[in-house]
Amino acid sequence: MKARSFIFIFLLACFFASTANSQVAMFSGWDQFCGIRVISVSNPQGASASIDQIGPVIYADPSVLGNWSMSRVFTLAHECGHHMNGHVTPQGMWFRKTQFWATRDQELQSDCWAARALSRSKNYADLDRTIRQFASQGLYMQGNYPSGLERAQTIARCGKVNFDFTPFLPATFCATNYGPCQLFNQISKGSQCFCQTPQGQIWGIAR
Ligand SMILES: [Zn+2]
Repeated sequence: MKARSFIFIFLLACFFASTANSQVAMFSGWDQFCGIRVISVSNPQGASASIDQIGPVIYADPSVLGNWSMSRVFTLAHECGHHMNGHVTPQGMWFRKTQFWATRDQELQSDCWAARALSRSKNYADLDRTIRQFASQGLYMQGNYPSGLERAQTIARCGKVNFDFTPFLPATFCATNYGPCQLFNQISKGSQCFCQTPQGQIWGIAR
């Protein structure tokens, strides 16, 4: 009986040890990567760059990062990029709060920093995956953030990755059963569009 409970406690200890290790392993090497501490905390954003009483820090949530499709390496490198470009200084944060263009600028700068870092460390698979994921978000902009396509093109340029953006570029015309017409605003290929005809609006697919 005594031996059995001892074994149980031992197994329990092993379980907790391995859980803690896997969380540490997920971010291992990142403190050295850009010299910024990576701290595991609950963070609905996945990861964010901040400052605590000691100094610059990246708050990362292993459970969020563990089951999302974006590259973890790129995500952390992007947060490093915010620190390296001075976005987490009082001035950088003031810009972001008060200037409508600052969010887009800062996001693209951080993406560029991350792409260069991943290229240097030869994380080509993660670079490629990140470019593909952002490109497939197309022209859609969320708030002041740059569109996925713009982020993908920035990452490809800064990481010196040859990537075929043709399928992800904005559509040039609307194809309908009654023939094509020109598009006057930028929309993604495959989305719904219409041509104005004497019979009214004819719906089609942007190509
Ligand atoms: Zn960011």
